[in-house]
Amino acid sequence: MDSKELKEKLFMKKKNGWETVSNEEKKDIYSFSKEYIDFLNKSKIEREVVEFAVEALESKGFKNINTVNELSAGDKVYYVNREKTVYAAVIGGESMESGLNIVGAHVDSPRLDLKPNPLYEADGLALFRTHYYGGIKKYQWTTIPLALHGVIIKTNGEKVKINIGEDENDPVFVITDLLPHLGQTQMEKKLKDGVEGENLNILIGNMPYDNSETPERVKLNILNILNQKYGIVEKDFLSAEIEVVPAFKAKSLGFDESMVAGYGQDDKVCAYVSLQAILNTEKPKKTAVCILADKEEIGSMGNTGMESHVFDMFVTELLFKAKQNSINAIDRVFCKSKMLSADVDAAYDPLYASVYEKTNSAFLGEGVGLNKYTGARGKSGASDANAEFVAEIRKLFEDNNIRYNISELGKVDQGGGGTIAYILANKGMDVIDCGVPVLSMHSPYEVTSKFDIYSIFRAYKAFMNN
Ligand code: MN
Ligand code: MN
Repeated sequence: MDSKELKEKLFMKKKNGWETVSNEEKKDIYSFSKEYIDFLNKSKIEREVVEFAVEALESKGFKNINTVNELSAGDKVYYVNREKTVYAAVIGGESMESGLNIVGAHVDSPRLDLKPNPLYEADGLALFRTHYYGGIKKYQWTTIPLALHGVIIKTNGEKVKINIGEDENDPVFVITDLLPHLGQTQMEKKLKDGVEGENLNILIGNMPYDNSETPERVKLNILNILNQKYGIVEKDFLSAEIEVVPAFKAKSLGFDESMVAGYGQDDKVCAYVSLQAILNTEKPKKTAVCILADKEEIGSMGNTGMESHVFDMFVTELLFKAKQNSINAIDRVFCKSKMLSADVDAAYDPLYASVYEKTNSAFLGEGVGLNKYTGARGKSGASDANAEFVAEIRKLFEDNNIRYNISELGKVDQGGGGTIAYILANKGMDVIDCGVPVLSMHSPYEVTSKFDIYSIFRAYKAFMNN
């Protein structure tokens, strides 16, 4: 065999995914992404994603598990935890003790939250104080249009939903930054110190209530507007969850419209696709489960985070209602289960090539991004997928003609990260990180490839229907 032939046989080949799609497939990819973009513009915070998910699940025949007494093969159910987390399942033909096929994503994204006492007036301006949520580069949040999303709960239990800044006719909000003319001292600071956390305050008003001598009349005017619009008083902010997110719309990116730019794609891209995958799952052999978790960006803690025991309860409910429950059944189920941890991957960015190791990087447009492990330094904190499981997933993808890359999150010792993978792996499952590569991750305007989004849809669907 000559060297060219031998090379063809032995070397791994990389390819831009677009080179592999037909015109017909291209149409499918574009129409799938169009609906994804609509979703991004409707669902910027976890509660809105959950609302979207429940509507979609119900329209496809999924029932709230609390309303169902018995489950059998092919049945579809979901469970909502405090409006922030959804678990959905399609009962398989085999007993659950042969394992579940789980795809798990998270629906929270980095953002700014209003502080419990947010409103103040300073020198004729009314502002909201915020506390950032998740890993952000603070300077990226100044001088961009911002919207407010969330809820205010009054002591009588009444829930006021807030969504301002998205409609064409809505006002927006902004965090100001120093003009360059006076920015000399600021510009000499380290990038991380240029904008301080305590300065991420949002400008919300400038008009006094009247022309009296009463102090804080700009703040008073804002409260009066909020009182007329929502029936709230200042104290009601104490029991509110209001999230500040970029107001700009998600859009197709590039002359070729091959990419998607939008806020919150970590991890709403995998969340949306996981949901679409389970909506397209019929009568699987193994029970298919979709997890849309909250609080991943701050460590998965709390009763809506993946660390909570609510997921175990959901699986126990499935076992019980399918008449498959027995002592320790849940542990046996977990030990046999397989999971794709559906979270985004860092895409190689040629502008910042020095932090990546090119042969072990995910590239935009090359399909599914798999991470055998994440972690930091010497793989610290990583759930390292077993080679046997990686081989199984490779086979599944190769059999289904799904393009994928197995990569690392940047160079060794350059940083690191994690997902919900280890939490489920700790329960005994085989888990691998499997998601869409993203440019500008955690920024207000993240970038993904439409080819990758559609590839991951085909991957999750194949896995759930396996
Ligand atoms: Mn994520
Ligand atoms: Mn993240």
